[in-house]
Amino acid sequence: MPPNVFMLVIDSLRADAVFGPQVATPNIDRYIEAGAAFRQCVCSSTTTTPSFSSILTGCYPPRHGVRGLQGYRLNSAIATIAEAFSDTGYQTHAEVTGPLLPETGILRGFDEARHRPGYKAPFFGWRDEICNRMQSYTDPWFLLLHIWEVHRPYRSPPDFNKRRDKAGYEAALAATDEYLQPLFDVAGDNTIVVITGDHGEDYPNSELGLQKVRWARRLRRATKLGSWFPYLDSKLAGQEIGHGFALYEHLVRVPLVLAGPGLAATSVEDQVRHVDLFPTLADLCGVSAPAVLDGRSLRPLIEGPGLPEEPAYMEAVGVKLAGNRIVGVRTPDWKLLRRGNGRPSLYKLDGGGPPNERRNLYSRYPEVTGRLEEFLERVQSSAVSESGMTTEEESVVEQHLRDLGYL
Ligand SMILES: [Zn+2]
Repeated sequence: MPPNVFMLVIDSLRADAVFGPQVATPNIDRYIEAGAAFRQCVCSSTTTTPSFSSILTGCYPPRHGVRGLQGYRLNSAIATIAEAFSDTGYQTHAEVTGPLLPETGILRGFDEARHRPGYKAPFFGWRDEICNRMQSYTDPWFLLLHIWEVHRPYRSPPDFNKRRDKAGYEAALAATDEYLQPLFDVAGDNTIVVITGDHGEDYPNSELGLQKVRWARRLRRATKLGSWFPYLDSKLAGQEIGHGFALYEHLVRVPLVLAGPGLAATSVEDQVRHVDLFPTLADLCGVSAPAVLDGRSLRPLIEGPGLPEEPAYMEAVGVKLAGNRIVGVRTPDWKLLRRGNGRPSLYKLDGGGPPNERRNLYSRYPEVTGRLEEFLERVQSSAVSESGMTTEEESVVEQHLRDLGYL
């Protein structure tokens, strides 16, 4: 019997929060120790719906067509992971939240898909329902579970008060790990467990830091600083919290863990991408993946002999960046970014170590920029015409985004 797949995506899950020592996540740690832990995984977008579209199709945003939270539907010409697994005889289930509405098209191919509103229906309230349902699944099954507990505002037991700082984020993650244990218990031995986040998160280190961010926002709004002091304005604009507005390392680096049958314990330091997840799972489960994908199977990194380095493409398209999208390309050593029609920038990342994302080295390394820009152009040339929604679908999505506080 082929293995089942339990794909857990924790919204806004930072790589350093899971792989670092600061948050106790003993349940997730068990999978990190037992399976393949990818320590340098990069998402394709710092916004939920476009990022999930890459996870579920193995394609970058230009090819899958979901270039923002609003008004985009998945390119109907490309296959989803649910369709591919379903065609091979898997029962496919999706339990999702946040902006992952059926109207976006990204739940295409799931035999059963349930969407719950993020804040109104916290996972802590429906976990037991999922546990019971998992026990009744017919083998082989594929489950996508998307939970919202680490998305701001962070709410953690016992009081579930809203918090927006680092301590609040870490408390929510620790509680989430604890709550997940029964699900891992019922997943069973013949199940590949995948743990990742759709993108990272930016949070102030303290309540005082949060006040500073609010102050900067008010000042920019009140003074229209950008027209007089663009440098100071860009400094203040950098004082952001949440995700979707930029492509900093803490926003694009997510954990990726695969554990289960056929996956020996290994720690992979090479850069991998969310678009690699679909072809990898297909390879591990004997499912055929589509011929044209932006990702590739990571099996040679798990079992040896390794893979040649490939760059990662990414976008920041948050609701408020409409028309001013940031596109980027990352290697373990470099990150090249381009915002709208503005001047590009190049940052040194130091092989995945502490990055310097303030010093623009664009004019100093023409060879590097040439290579990265060529890759960027190639990915962008795969763009499909941006697919719209009907007015009715638009208004359903808009109402949900309003409920989530995005609009
Ligand atoms: Zn998200």
